[in-house]
Amino acid sequence: MPPTDCIFCRIARGEIPAMKVLDDDACLAFLDIAPLAEGHVLLIPKAHAQTLDQLSADQAAAMLRHLPALVKAVQAATGCAGVNVLQNNGKAAHQEVPHVHFHVIPRNPGDAFGFNWPAGKYPAGRAEQLVQAIQDELSR
Ligand code: 5GP
Ligand code: ZN
Repeated sequence: MPPTDCIFCRIARGEIPAMKVLDDDACLAFLDIAPLAEGHVLLIPKAHAQTLDQLSADQAAAMLRHLPALVKAVQAATGCAGVNVLQNNGKAAHQEVPHVHFHVIPRNPGDAFGFNWPAGKYPAGRAEQLVQAIQDELSR
């Protein structure tokens, strides 16, 4: 999708209004229009990238340096008991807006949001194979 049509690029360019909580050269944070909880914020890079792997390390760093303060501010402002930082890449991972974004979601005991977390177990030797494969990719 070209950035001209991208909803978050349009928000970054000021063509669509958003309830901004943070705005600098590299990134923007604003209230999610359909919050999972009050204070649900999205942190986005101003540069268009569909998924996290398409961002440069510098672009990611310029955005993510704000994440600890943002989490702290959302927690203090909402009085929530905990926070999930969620980042979806690709349709299979529930990404609906194809522009990188981090969800900062206030959580409280007994709230309606939840995960299906089907924790598994590695068969003998598989973890070692995966470590090797991931390290090989990282060293490319
Ligand atoms: P995803 O499923 O892609 O990780 O989440 C996209 C999020 O963007 C959703 O939580 C949705 O509510 C939010 N969203 C979609 N369009 C807009 C918009 O125009 N403005 C704002 N503020 N949030 C949006
Ligand atoms: Zn975009």
